[in-house]
Amino acid sequence: MAKPNLRHADVVIRSAHLIDGTGSPATYGDVAITNDKIVAIGDLSEVSGSREIEANARAVAPGFIDVHTHDDRAVLSDPIMACKISQGVTTVITGNCGISLAPLASKLLPPPLDLIADRPESLFPDFSAYLNALDNEPPAVNLAAQVGHSTLRIGAMDNLERPATGEEIKSMRHQLDHALEAGAIGMSTGLYYEPASAAPTSEVIELAKSIRDARGIHTTHMRNEGDHIEQSPEESFRIGRDANVPIVISHHKVGGISNHGRSRQTLRMIDEASNYQAIAFDVYPYVASSTVLGVKRLETASRIVVTWSKPHPEMAGQDLSHISEELGCDLITAARALAPAGAIYFMMSEDDVQRILSHPKAMIGSDGLPHDDHPHPRLWGTFPRVLGHYARERGLFTLEEAVRRMTSLPAAQFGLMERGKLNVGSYADLVLFNQKTVIDRATFEAPTRAAEGIDLVMVNGRAVWENGAATGARPGLALRRQSLGQMGSNTTSGC
Ligand code: ZN
Repeated sequence: MAKPNLRHADVVIRSAHLIDGTGSPATYGDVAITNDKIVAIGDLSEVSGSREIEANARAVAPGFIDVHTHDDRAVLSDPIMACKISQGVTTVITGNCGISLAPLASKLLPPPLDLIADRPESLFPDFSAYLNALDNEPPAVNLAAQVGHSTLRIGAMDNLERPATGEEIKSMRHQLDHALEAGAIGMSTGLYYEPASAAPTSEVIELAKSIRDARGIHTTHMRNEGDHIEQSPEESFRIGRDANVPIVISHHKVGGISNHGRSRQTLRMIDEASNYQAIAFDVYPYVASSTVLGVKRLETASRIVVTWSKPHPEMAGQDLSHISEELGCDLITAARALAPAGAIYFMMSEDDVQRILSHPKAMIGSDGLPHDDHPHPRLWGTFPRVLGHYARERGLFTLEEAVRRMTSLPAAQFGLMERGKLNVGSYADLVLFNQKTVIDRATFEAPTRAAEGIDLVMVNGRAVWENGAATGARPGLALRRQSLGQMGSNTTSGC
């Protein structure tokens, strides 16, 4: 409600379908913003705005929080972040899947670190230097950054194909503690990937104790999302229990035809474990995954599309089966010829994707890869696809519920206080969108098309996306753990 004496605000958005982020039914009213905060919500006919915006019954919601990104370098190299603001995203969580640009000095960039670091100079030996670089050259979106376990391993170990020794763990913990002091919000693992696959559970538990001490969060790209899908959540739960840290299972999925349907079981496991510990997960709304091109996934995918290749950039966007035919070789040989490279793997079932998306704990995370030549469409399409395709067209959940999974739920999980809800006093991270038309336009063939129906996006009170284009404003903040609230809150109300 408006403060009784409020007469004027910087911006007033009028006649909006207000979706507050909690999952509650939308209401009708106005929103006033002054500086970087929401100052009034309700009937604001008595309040004038330096700028007046007529919403005409379009939706106004809290800005979306992309909980799973690989935007670590993109926020510096392409700070306008059109791929995200065009979807209504106002905050991104980086440092996922075990990889972060800091803290590390290394000449080698083993995959998947090469998904975010294109050369050794893109690394930061010190985590505070990374955050300071963002303070000096801010992006359009807010960011909260994790430290990658693989990044720590690459820095501390001469050989990644074995467990870390006690000394190496000590050295990694020292680096991690330092990064947490600088403002990192936690640590991610990518136990599936080669730089970390030799790490035993006990190594991660030791490191996660630093996360506990700093009251941070632990996210994980699990060791296996295919044939051994049930063992992986068990490992994640154990890390959470033994180190006493909140866990986020990243991009939850079940890969490989023979495993389709097993999300029934994994979701049951997550529900069960949630009775005893803080567990959360995120998901992207597609049946195809994307990462580096490696031989491991070739058999589980029904179709593979190349997203980039260092030796053969001209192959980006082509099917690997087509390339192997052209070269007259098998898929493995073709994949080796293209490496280092990236790919899209069609390997999930629509039923599993919908089952995971519909779970009340499901947060939305794009997992977009911003440096790929021909990226997975999730980079540009994730959020409008959940709103337009899965909520409006498929009726998987209400629009209010879709918004909750992108706003208050992740805000509670990552301690993003004063974000994620339409509240007086909250930061004015807002999106104005047309709930009747919003839809993703990025496809596997044309993956960098901006979504439709996202009409205005504000970050900290400033418009960053308007009339189908970036405004050029870069009001994003590098959020430090010290300024955030408790992480790992298991809020599932409102579904
Ligand atoms: Zn991952």
